[in-house]
Amino acid sequence: MIVDCHTHWGMAWAARDGENPARWLETLDRRGVDKAALMGHANLVRVDWCQADNDRVARVAERAPDRLLPVYTAWPQAGAQGLAEVRRAIEKLDARGLKFHPWLQGFSTADPSFREMCAAAGEAGVPVIFHDGTPCYSLPEQIAGAARRFPATKFVLGHAGLLWSWRSALEAARLPNVWLCLCGPHMRAMEILCRQADPERIVWGSDFGFGLADTIGYRLSAFKEANVEGALRERILGENARRLLGIR
Ligand SMILES: [Zn+2]
Repeated sequence: MIVDCHTHWGMAWAARDGENPARWLETLDRRGVDKAALMGHANLVRVDWCQADNDRVARVAERAPDRLLPVYTAWPQAGAQGLAEVRRAIEKLDARGLKFHPWLQGFSTADPSFREMCAAAGEAGVPVIFHDGTPCYSLPEQIAGAARRFPATKFVLGHAGLLWSWRSALEAARLPNVWLCLCGPHMRAMEILCRQADPERIVWGSDFGFGLADTIGYRLSAFKEANVEGALRERILGENARRLLGIR
């Protein structure tokens, strides 16, 4: 089983295909990917698009319920309303995760409202997935700072440090509640991460859907070509993701 833990219902896809994931899923089929954690895109860009885009992600995921695992966002800047959106995502929209992009959304991980969201996610057993690897708000060190405060919440570095910060991501993953999603580091970095991080807390992802390009082909090939022991590679692509996202 291959699970892509980092995909989006991107704005370019929504503009072209509305809420029909058929063509989007064709790319997964072509690459042999069985399931995907599906995040929004418009909801990360504007606070006033958040709720409508969360609903859109829910409807798109419902078109392929055995394959698409919906992941929603909320905005700490919205205060009590933001926390209410987190609760709605968990209680009404079957959230398999929450996704935050502090850089794009423009909030600090030390924001008091954001802390309440992290606590709520931990209580519900829902992982919190981050864009990471870019300043000024999305460095692995900053996300680790939040993770340290909420040991009962799973924090996923959605890019494992991206191209430049994978060493910091490795350091952050020393915390037992921090997971790494291999989506961005180069091949040698992935090899080192797989050798040195906890093998139980590594998953793989592609960022497919943010634009129209097939990033699955590139990122899956890079991971498969990397010198990673076969059983560990299988676990990263399948079993670890199954545990993280609560796939039955
Ligand atoms: Zn992404």
